[in-house]
Amino acid sequence: MTTGKINVSVENIFPLIKKFLYSDHEIFLRELVSNGTDATLKLKHLISIGEAKVEYGNPVIEIKVDKEGKKIHIIDQGLGMTADEVEKYINQVAFSGAEEFLDKYKDSAKDSGIIGHFGLGFYSAFMVAEKVEIITKSYKDEPAAHWTCDGSPEFTLEPADKTSRGTEIILHVAEDSLEFLDDSKIGGLLNKYNKFMPIPIKFGTKTETLPKPEDAPEDYVNETFEVDNIINNPNPAWTKQPTELSDEDYKNFYRELYPMQFEEPLFNIHLNVDYPFNLTGILYFPKLGTDMQIQKDKIQLYQNQVYVTDNVEGIVPEFLTMLKGVIDSPDIPLNVSRSGLQADGAVKKISNYITRKVADKLKALFNENRADFEQKWNDIKIVLEYGMLSEDKFYEKAGAFVLYPTVDDTYFTLEELKEKLKDNQTDKDGKLVVLYAGNKEAQHSYIETAKAKGYEVLLLDSPIISHLIQKIEGDNSGLTFVRVDSDHIDNIIKKEENTISKLSDEEKETLKTSLESYIPKAYSVQLEAMDSQAAPFIITQPEFMRRMKEMSQSGGGGMFGMGNMPEMYNLIVNTNSDLATSILNTEDKTHQEHLVKQALDLAKLSQNLLKGEALTAFVKRSFEMIK
Ligand code: ADP
Repeated sequence: MTTGKINVSVENIFPLIKKFLYSDHEIFLRELVSNGTDATLKLKHLISIGEAKVEYGNPVIEIKVDKEGKKIHIIDQGLGMTADEVEKYINQVAFSGAEEFLDKYKDSAKDSGIIGHFGLGFYSAFMVAEKVEIITKSYKDEPAAHWTCDGSPEFTLEPADKTSRGTEIILHVAEDSLEFLDDSKIGGLLNKYNKFMPIPIKFGTKTETLPKPEDAPEDYVNETFEVDNIINNPNPAWTKQPTELSDEDYKNFYRELYPMQFEEPLFNIHLNVDYPFNLTGILYFPKLGTDMQIQKDKIQLYQNQVYVTDNVEGIVPEFLTMLKGVIDSPDIPLNVSRSGLQADGAVKKISNYITRKVADKLKALFNENRADFEQKWNDIKIVLEYGMLSEDKFYEKAGAFVLYPTVDDTYFTLEELKEKLKDNQTDKDGKLVVLYAGNKEAQHSYIETAKAKGYEVLLLDSPIISHLIQKIEGDNSGLTFVRVDSDHIDNIIKKEENTISKLSDEEKETLKTSLESYIPKAYSVQLEAMDSQAAPFIITQPEFMRRMKEMSQSGGGGMFGMGNMPEMYNLIVNTNSDLATSILNTEDKTHQEHLVKQALDLAKLSQNLLKGEALTAFVKRSFEMIK
């Protein structure tokens, strides 16, 4: 037997590491299973190049929990190690790796959450074990070795009688880590970290039942037998070529990723590059609707099929973090902080690649089946609109597939929309006027008025739409967006013919004075000579102020200091309406006030502004009138 002292400068790094990595103790299992996987894949490689002359067989990695003995065994059938190799790889490589790790991350580790992403390797065994044994037999014709260590620099190394090739790691679980002796705990960890690792992982057995034969007698008892419980899928969909996979395969993989999710994804994007960086993955568009607060952190990041994290911030562009799926790249540096990630050139390239690939896919989907794309629009628009706002590269490409639906479900691209508007919807400056509604119900009367005049009205109802409109207008698009209730339609879209006013200037003055004596100060009264069929009283909310207010509410935190802006409304009175004439000509002041108030309430009603006490009073007054 050899005993020795491992050559590390820190006398006992074990308690230190344990302390720093407190919240990430569970990664030991991922690290040890990864080592077993590596050892198996290395053997496969050596056999393929003729270096190792042994049978590969059907190797598995087995995890065994011995509750009574307080031990966890991780057993692989990989290339194994000779005694010399244990000296070299474990005593030197593993320990110096741990020491280096500690030096580097002592200070930053606690707050950055980077630890779980950094392979601490073999040494992480000491996060849960007070003593670790390695029993290993190399594929080379040499005796097996047995190494024991309690985390201090002292170790023992002696021959062992193991005859089968591979390595068994035995963890003597420490008193403060006994939770890891729980089958369901280990099962849960394997499912989290190792679900898609490339070598089958065995954890216990399960009972399988043979189907009942057709000619079985009444009292037939189904035959059962025990089989290995393999917890992983070693060939997940993202490792395959897109041409090998059907729609159904993609959907099945989605269910594998999210067993608790019953809704099907809308479509998927298969990522696959190997130059200038290596990245594979599948992203899914789930049904999103207009809810911005949906769960993020649904994309899982893997490195060579080993789960790393579900926080892909900085790697995947922000707007795509609303998607689901996996990405797998060995080229993403995980041992740097989040801000470091964003500054990393390779990561920036990865993020740009993903953006481009998503844009290309959307374009292809749009071109292949526009009707289907339109149907899905409502569920994907939030991602796309957010993408246009946050990524210039995406904004540039968005023209090819981003849609602008009308209130009657006709979908235009921006170019098509321009074409549609150019003859009929321009303002006095010659800009194309995009009329839109934010809510079909609430703005119903305004929509109807605009449609009656033959105008197109879009339905733009995302919570971030005001930001996007602002961006499109600023982009030399020649467009101006105006919500239908922002002004009277004839003021928005300038027509040649001017309606002649029934009232003289003098009469208008008188009317205005009377109106202002009854109308609250919050409304600014405007007289307009419109056609006599138009509503007599119309309440509008100027586009600019309303939009700024919306923008400051939906992100941009109090942008322009307008967080607490008061609501501003205009009251437009049609001087050509019969009601205007009546108000003007009424001698009876009480009756005049009554007319104005009733008309104002009606105008408020069509803008959804009549609430509470005012609504009650209105209803009561109206009943009085018809009794
Ligand atoms: P890393 O895996 O990052 O190199 P580790 O600390 O996990 O670092 O392991 C150190 C070395 O020990 C490995 O490079 C490998 O040579 C050897 N090793 C660890 N586990 C096994 C195993 N199960 N089978 C064979 N060799 C192993």
